[in-house]
Amino acid sequence: DGVPPSELSHPCRMMLLVNPHSGKGQALVLYNNHVQRMLNEAGVLHTLVVTERQNHARELVREADLSQWDALVIMSGDGLLFEVINGLLDRSDWKEAIRTPLGILPGGSGNALAASIHHYAGASLVSSEELLVSCGFLLCKGVVSRMDLVSVHLFSGTRLFSFLSLAWGFVADVDIESEKYRHVGAARFTVGTLVRLASLRVYKGKLAYLPLEADCNRMGSRNSNNHSATLHNSRDSPLQNSFHNSCHSNNSLKARRFERLRSSSKTQTGLWNSVLPRLEEPLPGNWVVVPEEDFVLVLAMYQSHLAEDLLAAPDATLDDGVIHLFYVKAGISRAALLRLFLAMEKGAHVTSSCAHLVHTKVRALRMEPYSPKGIITVDGEVVEYGPVQAEVHQGLARLISA
Ligand code: ADP
Ligand code: MG
Repeated sequence: DGVPPSELSHPCRMMLLVNPHSGKGQALVLYNNHVQRMLNEAGVLHTLVVTERQNHARELVREADLSQWDALVIMSGDGLLFEVINGLLDRSDWKEAIRTPLGILPGGSGNALAASIHHYAGASLVSSEELLVSCGFLLCKGVVSRMDLVSVHLFSGTRLFSFLSLAWGFVADVDIESEKYRHVGAARFTVGTLVRLASLRVYKGKLAYLPLEADCNRMGSRNSNNHSATLHNSRDSPLQNSFHNSCHSNNSLKARRFERLRSSSKTQTGLWNSVLPRLEEPLPGNWVVVPEEDFVLVLAMYQSHLAEDLLAAPDATLDDGVIHLFYVKAGISRAALLRLFLAMEKGAHVTSSCAHLVHTKVRALRMEPYSPKGIITVDGEVVEYGPVQAEVHQGLARLISA
């Protein structure tokens, strides 16, 4: 089922990007004490690149001669991988570039992807340093798997790629407010959660999503080895045919309209087979509009962990092509919200009986906040606030994992 994992060649050459200021500011020390010897003993040739500022990694990756590298590995928090992925997708050869195997070693305070691949390997919750050793081991093994990416479309027309999460409300606020507690490492989210609980508020806006099982344009890529066919311009792709068939059988006028929307979104995004209309266009009839407009949080996740000790989407896998959408409706008590976050350490919140929490699996979503100011995060990084929509691209990237 799906694309079989492959292995990196030996000896292999990695570019290892380290952010010296991530987490407790210990990433270089951790590299010297743990990582360097591990990689040398495993015969992994690597070139250490210490980032000097924000977006340095993104610029390096945008310009790099990728034929020199078997993998691009980051040692930092999730923020540095976000830079690398978006740097690859900035390139004119992005279709090839995004297939470069990526790797992650937890060196930051938000190490959600590292915690996720440790979890996919079947291992249980461990301390931060043990997580580093576990991820170092996976890196040395060099098994490369597909990883879903989500394209995020902002109102200004900017398009970003995300591997982890899209958040608005409580989680986004905690994410950003807690950056000042980065020196306490992964515990920053616990501190941030308690602080935010004290000033709990409601976020107003509109939320809609395309359910996973919506018929029109259903992706058949589970049994396709050629992922590029599902993403790029291919007149013969089975996906496109099923799109036309189902739409024509419904209503040819509607189909023509869809066709127009879809080609405009192609021009806008450079991606093919997008299920998204343009952000200012109304949503197609197969989308679900959430009846509530008062939220405490909206969180879209595509990997299991939101932080080292937050198993937000327990049944997520690396390339399931699913966005796990969670929202918490206004009216929840502080105590109940705290219980949800405590239960999340083991992923028990999804089976809890909290009536305010909704969890659904989707392929795309759109959020339209009403208030003029606020915070939206993508992979824990602040992005432009305002209407935003996103869709999943199954297995678009490659990651060294279990
Ligand atoms: P953490 O988990 O501690 O937040 P991240 O990897 O997310 O660590 O990095 C935090 C932020 O720092 C990200 O926005 C990243 O782009 C940025 N960054 C990367 N390298 C540097 C650097 N050398 N100096 C300052 N900021 C950097
Ligand atoms: Mg971060």
